[in-house]
Amino acid sequence: MMAELEFTILGTGGGRFAMITQKRRTAGIRILSEDVNIHLDPGPGALIHSLKMGLDPQKIQAVLVSHAHPDHYNDAEILVEAMTRGMTRKRGLLAATRSVLYGNKNCGPAVSKYHQQMPKELVELRLGVDFDVGEVKAIVTKAVHSDPDAVGFRFETSDVGDVGYTSDTEFFDGIGKVYRGVRLLLLSLLRPSSKPWRGHITTDDAIKIVREVDPELVVITHFGMGMIFAGPRREAERIGRESGVHTVAAKDGMRLRVGEEITVGIGERKRKGLEEFA
Ligand SMILES: [Zn+2]
Ligand SMILES: [Zn+2]
Repeated sequence: MMAELEFTILGTGGGRFAMITQKRRTAGIRILSEDVNIHLDPGPGALIHSLKMGLDPQKIQAVLVSHAHPDHYNDAEILVEAMTRGMTRKRGLLAATRSVLYGNKNCGPAVSKYHQQMPKELVELRLGVDFDVGEVKAIVTKAVHSDPDAVGFRFETSDVGDVGYTSDTEFFDGIGKVYRGVRLLLLSLLRPSSKPWRGHITTDDAIKIVREVDPELVVITHFGMGMIFAGPRREAERIGRESGVHTVAAKDGMRLRVGEEITVGIGERKRKGLEEFA
């Protein structure tokens, strides 16, 4: 019985300039419960910010990489080294797209053969694939992005419902349907509506998606520079107002606990006070 599934947003930055400047961290998301420890999209800083937040990277059971852009894959090899106890034990699961594992015509490969052979399980992510990590079933969802192999996820649990993660995608017909019924939607929102960019949704697109999905809570994250300057909180407020769904802008270090209710907190798990990351 899973009482709670927790999503720690280790980084809320997305795109090249947010990544290069580290205006927002680009460390990805850690998914935790008593029997689950997944690192999703380990961009630059995933190792450092895991350690800083007291989340031992050696306890990771699965590394998931949604596509072959460095803000999603950069620290994947290092986390595989941690997961396999310094490459001494065949352990854990690496799930990544074809672009990440083998390369396609415009990107990748992004994880070396050496690192691909050490996890106990290697999963190639494409539509129709699903796999279990502890009590979580990860189902691959469609994304439309400049890496043609890019995917999103729907994380299913029997006890606390489902959570959707769009990863990088542009708006496409049916995207709302993919995530319908999730309780929490993690929406990668790189750009405000005034600054559209191919391969990414804008705030206007987000409103359409959120209306269709109608979850309990939407958390926008993966902010590019344009979004950081526009103010993610203002954009979240607009999405909330126009969709009628409670929407918050992620902060680096934010923790989302999905249990009977969904709660939003910030700060390190154990060692330090909450104010450090507030
Ligand atoms: Zn990205
Ligand atoms: Zn991308």
